[in-house]
Amino acid sequence: MAISKKQLLRQVFKSTDMMKGSLAESSRSCGKKGCKCQRGELHHGYYFSFSVKSKAKMIYVPKKSYEQVKKLLNNWKHHKDLIEELTDINAELIRKRQFKE
Ligand SMILES: [Zn+2]
Repeated sequence: MAISKKQLLRQVFKSTDMMKGSLAESSRSCGKKGCKCQRGELHHGYYFSFSVKSKAKMIYVPKKSYEQVKKLLNNWKHHKDLIEELTDINAELIRKRQFKE
């Protein structure tokens, strides 16, 4: 049997730290004058791209933060799935004229 609305809500509110965006491996130049990247030795690593108020941003992710970033992105994906399921349940309630609360 499908998960109940109550159970879903409980999971949604239990949600922990999260963020929305994507992690990509890339080589870039930092723009600092005199840096080795100006001579073509680009900085290789992971970059976190995201958008805030529809403005796209991208930041470098230090190696030690990589796992944590990945975890928070996964938390968001899981949360998104929960919201989707909740939307489906609510839509069904509206359709059945049982939408209240
Ligand atoms: Zn540089």
